[in-house]
Amino acid sequence: MRTANVTTRKYSSNVWNIAAALKSRYRDFSHYNLKNPLDELLFIICSTKTGEASYRSTFRSLKETFPTHYQIAEAPAEYIARPIVSGGLSNQKAKAICELLDVIVARFGEPTLKPLRKMSDADAEAFLVSLPGVGKKVARCVLMYSLGRQVFPVDTHCWRIARRLGWVRPTQKDKHCAPRDMDRLQSKIPPELRYSLHVNIISLGREICTPAAPRCDECPISAWCPKIGVPRAK
Ligand code: SF4
Repeated sequence: MRTANVTTRKYSSNVWNIAAALKSRYRDFSHYNLKNPLDELLFIICSTKTGEASYRSTFRSLKETFPTHYQIAEAPAEYIARPIVSGGLSNQKAKAICELLDVIVARFGEPTLKPLRKMSDADAEAFLVSLPGVGKKVARCVLMYSLGRQVFPVDTHCWRIARRLGWVRPTQKDKHCAPRDMDRLQSKIPPELRYSLHVNIISLGREICTPAAPRCDECPISAWCPKIGVPRAK
């Protein structure tokens, strides 16, 4: 029991130390996410399988073509696909946008996600994951970035780095992040650290803790990282 308590205390202080070190380096950069929850959802759809410069440009183009949410909600999928074609998968993305806007309008009477502001975290997340093509990660991005909720979306960077830090052990044989893994990881991170850790871990994953060649010798959290499964730990 004593060992478990010592381990728990050590994990807990490491989370705070890591959050502080990452915040000092990356300053909670928001990665251009948006305050309107429906815009954030559309922004995330535009970001699927494309780079940052590309999805920022395609989202801008989408908004220039359809300045209001009513205009997007009324547009046929082929018209929505045109301004986002440079981001790839434009037909699938346009179809997804049409399908989820249909559900949103059916539920709220207009193309808006603002009613989520009055819902509990659990109810808002349940509604979001009920939308076609929206999973727990996307739902929690909308909750965190646009609605200010203290949740922890687990994207590819968060999942990889949390495993290297020993914060979570995959439950799936292929090591992909299952919904229950997202819940387990979120439950281990103090609510007040979730936003900061999420955005700063993304910055770390893009700059230093990359999938194939993490540069541990340059890493601001190396002192607290056991580097589990790291291919070329230095
Ligand atoms: S020490 Fe290495 S494995 Fe750990 S977070 Fe930093 S770069 Fe990633």
